[in-house]
Amino acid sequence: MATLGMPQNTIAVLQKHQFHIQKKFGQNFLIDTRVLEKIVQAARVTKEDCVLEIGPGLGAMTQYLAESAREVIAVEIDKDLIPILEETLSAYGNVTILNQDILKMDIPQLVMEKNAGRPVKVVANLPYYITTPIIMQLLESGVPLSDITIMVQKEVAERMQAKPGTKEYGALSLAVQYYAEPEIVANVPPNCFLPRPTVGSAVVRLTRYGEPPVAVRDEKFMFALIRASFNQRRKTLVNGLGNARELGLSKDKIVEALEKMGESPLVRGESFSLERFAALANLLKP
Ligand code: SAM
Repeated sequence: MATLGMPQNTIAVLQKHQFHIQKKFGQNFLIDTRVLEKIVQAARVTKEDCVLEIGPGLGAMTQYLAESAREVIAVEIDKDLIPILEETLSAYGNVTILNQDILKMDIPQLVMEKNAGRPVKVVANLPYYITTPIIMQLLESGVPLSDITIMVQKEVAERMQAKPGTKEYGALSLAVQYYAEPEIVANVPPNCFLPRPTVGSAVVRLTRYGEPPVAVRDEKFMFALIRASFNQRRKTLVNGLGNARELGLSKDKIVEALEKMGESPLVRGESFSLERFAALANLLKP
């Protein structure tokens, strides 16, 4: 039975192993069973699924995942947590614990080995200091995955889901929405964690698209345009992109492309949708 998520059990495990919580690894352990249940439910985990959990910590969420999934692969960077995980997960024969840094792993290779290349589900209460690199690595590297259900800082979840014209909208919104449909499924207050984080959190589910929702000939170039537009958020697109030397675009060429799209030369990136960025990229680099 998954019982570790109860606060008294978490504290007992920490004391028994005299474990010192490591801030440098972003360790905030979940101590609310309702939140744990909600995450596993939101991830729609079934007995068919192979789940990749990033940062199992003491194993609270892993216990729930092990009960709902066919198989769980739990990747934990902190070697001091491995003996604890071996104990808290000893009742489950379907969990593999790997002591590794997720950012340095060959995840496609892991999925090939563990799930014969079929899509896995990623579920995680992510260490907040590396949320964006982990998500972008998962989305960009072509790892076969159906969806990603993750706890992140509330503000980051809002940025992922943001639409054009809002203050949260930016390069992260566009990068995530090119690969997946984001949906915030729960807001989680700081008192659900030990220790309490200073910011609010949210669970967001990213459902991966089979095909990106826009057709763009050169993805890398489109993302370079997006980055350059939001680096200089207050500038018009013409100035923002024209000043970005790495793009090698003249302002005249940008104005001409915008005119072809029926856009004003004064338009800013923050009001430009993914479709518009894709169209602009296709015009500027035919
Ligand atoms: N899943 C647990 C829970 O919900 O209680 C712990 C979540 S805690 C926010 C993040 C976990 O990720 C910690 O256990 C931390 O040691 C681990 N972690 C941090 N950086 C990591 C990395 N690069 N690769 C794998 N695990 C990492």
